[in-house]
Amino acid sequence: MNILIINSGSSSIKFQLIQMPSEEMICSGLVERIGETDAVLNYKTKSVDLKQTHVIPTHKQGLQIIVDLLLDLENGVISNIKEIQAVGHRVVHGGNSFSNTALVTPEVKQKIQQYAPLAPLHNPSNLEGIYVAEEYFPFAKQIAVFDTAFHQTIPEKARKYAIPNNLYEDQDIQVYGFHGTSHKYVSEKAIEYLQLEKSKIISIHLGNGCSMTAIENGKSIDHSMGFAPTNGLIMGSRSGDIDHSIIFYLVDSLGYSLEEVNTLLTKESGMQGLTGSNDLRDIEKEAAKGNSECILALEMNAYRIKKFIGTYVAVMNGVDAIIFTAGIGENSSLIRKLACRDLDFFGIELDQTKNEERSQELREINSSTSKVKILVVPTNEELEIAKQAFALLT
Ligand code: ADP
Repeated sequence: MNILIINSGSSSIKFQLIQMPSEEMICSGLVERIGETDAVLNYKTKSVDLKQTHVIPTHKQGLQIIVDLLLDLENGVISNIKEIQAVGHRVVHGGNSFSNTALVTPEVKQKIQQYAPLAPLHNPSNLEGIYVAEEYFPFAKQIAVFDTAFHQTIPEKARKYAIPNNLYEDQDIQVYGFHGTSHKYVSEKAIEYLQLEKSKIISIHLGNGCSMTAIENGKSIDHSMGFAPTNGLIMGSRSGDIDHSIIFYLVDSLGYSLEEVNTLLTKESGMQGLTGSNDLRDIEKEAAKGNSECILALEMNAYRIKKFIGTYVAVMNGVDAIIFTAGIGENSSLIRKLACRDLDFFGIELDQTKNEERSQELREINSSTSKVKILVVPTNEELEIAKQAFALLT
């Protein structure tokens, strides 16, 4: 079965064509800067590696370009759209309605729309991807895989906020959790690798968005993001946890509008606000040259991760393995080193040499005396979506 995976973001579409059950990736790509005059398309197959600039005003046109490429006589990988039997969509917010992957129906689309105010940067583009894919692939089954689904197991004591009950009961204001597809994928890989029957795992996903999950026996039991993908860790341009009185102070005393506060906390804060860059590679380079703002920002970033490690060791009364994943987690030996520093009280000890080694494979970076395994597990959200879509359809 050929499954096209679509991750439709606010100005980008990531895609992969995966053959199941062999899990072979036939092609992959990314359309970026949709809506700008210089949208960029990257496309890779076993034999082709293309980069093109196009004018792509809408997602619909973006997907049309992807479909044309898939069918292209020279660079394409299929000869007829009927060769794609299913399209798997990443959907960020499924609220309380989805603890599993779902076949897209009018009701499912209506629910994704209903949850759009909870993920305004993501759900509308995810839904747009579904509508456009339905048009271009009328013969394929459309499947929605929700980032929030994995976290439906978080117990009420961690799920509820201490605000009046009616806001939980009538308005569904609660912790939802995000990056679930990634946390599920990497924790299952770790459990399989370590051959654990019972397991206590802390999964640390550090990309542009960053989050941590406490996973007991394969189930999410607590998570660092909450109602929206904004709190918890320090991210590329999101602040993570702040005291909410700052919002009132900004509005009441400093004259900010709510929209300005939202932009400030989601687009101008985090590493961006602290250093002027949201790209960790640049920040590390500057820190190496002695830039004190960058050094402090990296310390703050790792300190926040460390605080959540402590919290999750406490909530699970132990930990078997800590996983680092996503762009920063897989590549930044510095953040891993800082986050694991002085945790020997918990039996968490990094091997500095292994930590510096580079690889695309799952690897162990703890010392031989460490009680706790420290793993780098490359995430693959697209493959996880393909696996879930395939499981639903077979
Ligand atoms: P997204 O959430 O958009 O999927 P990624 O998982 O691709 O994000 O992660 C993006 C982040 O990973 C960026 O901050 C980037 O600087 C960081 N990153 C990528 N490669 C490296 C590297 N070699 N060293 C340090 N950071 C890296």
